[in-house]
Order: sequence, then structure tokens, then C-alpha cells
Amino acid sequence: MKILVVNAGSSSLKYQLIDMETEKVLAKGGCERIGIEGSFLKAKGNGLEKVYEQAMPNHKVAIELVINALRDEGIGVIKSMEEIGAVGHRIVASGEYFKKTTLVTPEVLKTLEEKTFELAPLHNPAAATGLRACIEVMPKTPMALVFDTSFHATMPEKAYLYGIDYNDYKAYGVRRYGAHGTSHKFVSQEAAKYLGKKPEQLKIVTCHLGNGSSISAVDGGKCVDTSMGFTPLAGVLMGTRSGDIDASAVEFLARKKGLSHADAVTYLNKKCGVAGISGVSSDFRDLDDGAKKGNKRCELALDMFSYQTKKYVGAYAAAMGGLDCIVFTAGIGENSPNVREGVCENLEFLGVKFDKNENNLRVDGIHEISAKDSKVKVLVIPTNEELVIARETAALL
Ligand code: AMP
Repeated sequence: MKILVVNAGSSSLKYQLIDMETEKVLAKGGCERIGIEGSFLKAKGNGLEKVYEQAMPNHKVAIELVINALRDEGIGVIKSMEEIGAVGHRIVASGEYFKKTTLVTPEVLKTLEEKTFELAPLHNPAAATGLRACIEVMPKTPMALVFDTSFHATMPEKAYLYGIDYNDYKAYGVRRYGAHGTSHKFVSQEAAKYLGKKPEQLKIVTCHLGNGSSISAVDGGKCVDTSMGFTPLAGVLMGTRSGDIDASAVEFLARKKGLSHADAVTYLNKKCGVAGISGVSSDFRDLDDGAKKGNKRCELALDMFSYQTKKYVGAYAAAMGGLDCIVFTAGIGENSPNVREGVCENLEFLGVKFDKNENNLRVDGIHEISAKDSKVKVLVIPTNEELVIARETAALL
């Protein structure tokens, strides 16, 4: 079966067509500037790339263009739309309304639109627009919603609750939901495969370190805690996000800077993190360059990031009562030896024997960067969120 994975943003729509027999990506691409002047689709297939510069006033036109590209004479990989067995849609927030991958019905669509938009106002409405467009263009094709939060649905109450009035949690659903669930799930499963163990036998800390970063405790294949919270602002400091901060400091800052509640949250999302600390950039490559040239604030930003991540590794080892494996993934986790070393140094007491030389090598695929006799294995595993979405969709059918 071929599955189309769709990740729709407010003005973009990314896709991959995956053959589930081989798990190979047959075609992929993305529409940009939907609803804005200058829209285009960049599409790849058959080893070729084609750019369609065409007006896309809405997501329906965008998805029609994607289907045409999939059937294109040159880059096309299917003959008819009927070859697409199902569509898997990435959805950022589920609240407590959806615990797992869900087949779309009119009731499901209603719940998505009426209940979850306020939980992810930038992401969920855009995804729903993409979903509606796909339903219009492919009314007979099954559609699945795959949530970033689902993998975290196994967290126990003691891990996901905040210390607020329980009645307010019940009334408003304010609790930890987590993020990057498809990535944490994928890399923890890949780690188990690589180590030749069943997920049930392992205690793993997965570090998804990218533009947004989250760390999860995966015990016996199930997420038992994660660093992101009610929204993706929580946990370690990130590119431009502050990460955890005392709520009173937010009120104090808002007063001093003359910001409304909403503006204070925007400030914490957009102006803080390593960009705010370094005053240079949110990109870790720029921070590495700056630190090499002696910029102390770049060095400080990198130190803070590694230190905060390390604290989660220790906390989650304690929470799980042991540790077998640490996994690094996403843009920073896969590409920054500096950060990986900063996180893993001085963890010998936990059984981590880090191999600095191995860590500095660039290797395709899964890369073991702990010493051969390390009790705790440290792995770099490239993430593949689209493949998880396709697998989840296929499993549902
Ligand atoms: P992601 O959100 O997973 O796409 O990660 C994007 C981030 O990864 C970028 O903002 C960079 O900070 C980081 N990144 C990508 N390549 C490198 C690299 N070679 N060294 C350090 N950081 C990198």
C-alpha cells in the first residue's frame, strides 16, 4: 500500500508518498506561500525535481497540485489517485480528546475543530484546513490523524499534572501533553532494534534536540515522562524559546517591559532561548562558530543547553530507576558533537562511558558513540517522523 503523509501549516503543505512494503519514500515535496502571492510547489520523484510556480489561493488547490505532481509524466510515481491507500495527517495537539491515531469521521473532524484549536492555535487550524482540502479532493480515501502528543498519552498522572487546583486541571485540561511524540517513538523503537532487545526490556532517555527540543523517559517502550508541557514552550531552553521559567518571573518581566499576557508569551517563544542568551543566533552552528572565536555568550548559551539537557537525563534515570540507553536525534542531536559531549560528560556514575573520538566522526544511519564496554549505550539515531505517521496510518487500516 502507498500512504501519503501530509504536514500542513498555515501557508505550507509538506508531503511524502511512502510505499509501505519497502518503507521507501517514492516522492516528496512541499507547497509554500499558499494564499500568498508567489506560491510554488517543489516536488521530487523518480530522482528528479520539478518546481511548479502556480497560484495557490488555498490548500485545496495546493493538494490538487500535489496529486498532479504525483501523476506527472516525468517526476510522477503513480498513475491514478486510487493508488493512494490512505492519507496520514500530522496533528500537533490532541488535548485529552484523542489518545491515539484516529480515523477521520465527521464527528472526529468536529472534535478536532471545536476542541483542539485553542491548544495549538498556530498549528491545528492549519492542519484541519489541509485535512478538509484532502477530503474534498480524495473523498473516498481513508484519512488518519496522527498526533505529536499520542506517544506521551501513557504518562502517569503524577508525571503529567502541574501542581495546580485539580478542579482547574479537570475543567480546563491544563496539564503536560508533550511534543515530538512521533520522533521519540521512532528513535526509541530503532534503539531497541539496534540493541537487539525488545522495547519492554529497556529504559531509554530520548533527546530530540532541534529548533524545538524535548527529552523523554521511555520505560519498557512507553513514555513515562517528557520535558515539554502544556505547550512546546516548556523544558530546556531552545532556539528562541525560554524553556521552563518561574511563572512569577513572567509576570514581573511583563510589568517591567509593559507587555500584555499574550505578548509576554510571544516574547518567551520568539525572543529568548539561546538566541536571547547569546545575542547572536538561534542556530547552533552560529553558536559553535561564535564560541570558537571566543564569544563568551555563545559559549554560555551552549553550556546552558547541554547542562539543562543533562539534568533531564539524570532526572529521568532516577524516575525510571535505571538507564540502558541515551539517544540523540533531530538537527542538533544528530549534528552537534559538542552538545552531545556536553550532555554526556561526567555521567560515569550512571554507567555512561562516552567515546569522544567516535562522537566526532560523522556516520550515516545509527551511530554508537559510547565505548564498547559502556553499561549505558549512547546512540545517534536520525529521526523519521513521516515514516512513523505512515506506519501508524497503515496499522490503523
Ligand atoms: P530541526 O528542528 O530538527 O530541523 O533542527 C534544526 C536545528 O539544528 C538548527 O536550527 C541548528 O541549530 C541545528 N543544526 C543543524 N545542523 C547542525 C550542525 N551541523 N551543527 C550544529 N547544529 C546544527
